[in-house]
Amino acid sequence: MKKIIIILFALTLLSISIYSQSQPYVILISFDGFRWDYANRGVSPNIDIMKKDGVSALSLRPDFPSKTFPNHYAIVTGMYPENNGLIANSIYDPFRNAQYSLRDSSQVRNGRWYLGEAFWETAQRNGIISASYFWPGSEISPKYRRPEYYEKYDHTRAYKARVDGIINWLKLPYAKRPHFLTLYFSATDGMGHEFGTDSKEVNQAIFKEDSMLGLLFKKLKEINLYDSTNVILVSDHGMSDISKDRTVNIQNIIRNYDVKYQQGGPFMLIQPKPNEVNKVYQLLLKNQNHFNVYTKTNIPARFHYSDNPFIPDIIISADLGWYLTTDKSVKYMAKMKTVATHGWDNNTLDMQGIFFAMGPAFKVGYKTATINNIDIYPLLSKIFNISPRSNIDGKLANIEFILKNR
Ligand code: AMP
Ligand code: ZN
Ligand code: ZN
Repeated sequence: MKKIIIILFALTLLSISIYSQSQPYVILISFDGFRWDYANRGVSPNIDIMKKDGVSALSLRPDFPSKTFPNHYAIVTGMYPENNGLIANSIYDPFRNAQYSLRDSSQVRNGRWYLGEAFWETAQRNGIISASYFWPGSEISPKYRRPEYYEKYDHTRAYKARVDGIINWLKLPYAKRPHFLTLYFSATDGMGHEFGTDSKEVNQAIFKEDSMLGLLFKKLKEINLYDSTNVILVSDHGMSDISKDRTVNIQNIIRNYDVKYQQGGPFMLIQPKPNEVNKVYQLLLKNQNHFNVYTKTNIPARFHYSDNPFIPDIIISADLGWYLTTDKSVKYMAKMKTVATHGWDNNTLDMQGIFFAMGPAFKVGYKTATINNIDIYPLLSKIFNISPRSNIDGKLANIEFILKNR
């Protein structure tokens, strides 16, 4: 009897170890608004460790518009915003007269706005438990579209508590333990908006976020998971300074037309009456100064910003550093504290984010040029050896050379 128990015990241990070998660990971290060059300021020693021991890309190209929700959701779905549904941080659905905004938690949790499939859902369909300490799209209903473990977004949650949350999930018994986890910090975005890209506050934010990376490494070592965990550090977009002298009031140009304005700042979306689209477009084209105006049908393909019913007929993309206003937002701007922002053409250098990756799946000390954020979803699928959705925009071939043995 004793022998049988010992054999059964040994077999259980063996199956656990085989199973654990078959499921990698990936922690996907975002530092919001961390511009591609912030990691070169000499205030991020833990990113330096990732550079030395892993893969570093020159930059991570965001998608248009270079805003938070469209890009975080593009990273986890592998789809351009036109296909993943989050075409902006706020979206107007003219068919239902409904409004989505990242400040409206009931809409943020409403799965109707979110198309495609986030990686945590793909993972869970394949038996890989996921967890999210914040990520746009992680709180949506129905339940099967969310990670098994998640936290409701709380902007003020202490950064250390977020790292502890990740570690506590990784300490769960093996059968309950997540293998794909996300973690999010926003200090670089917040300080960038408020104090500008060259401020000491941004440097402090870089240092603060980087020290959370250090804390995570330390705690992973304590639970013996440092060597077996893949850490991927990204940002959603960069940041660029604005000025009160670099604004264009679009309403001054098309004052005689009754249009619906959406967004504003680095880009603007305009919906004229159906029979006035061309007139409004021609007028904007004639006055095209410090911005590019497009219609949904002639916007260059590289923007990938037309194939979605919620994108209005006219799209304006301001030159980098220029700010588009209406009468209403001019008044608002006079009072606002923002001195830097993002949302411009995703190919401009200042809008580029970061990509660093370290762990058993990745090459060591390897440098690459710019990576596209939509290619991260197929990369994750490859690391976990599961099939990605077939309708994604990202391509494994664009990114798999950063993996070991490739
Ligand atoms: P923005 O700079 O306007 O593109 O958006 C950045 C802001 O998005 C951050 O300062 C957060 O307040 C907010 N944010 C980030 N992640 C989430 C989330 N998961 N849920 C709600 N708001 C979020
Ligand atoms: Zn952001
Ligand atoms: Zn921002």
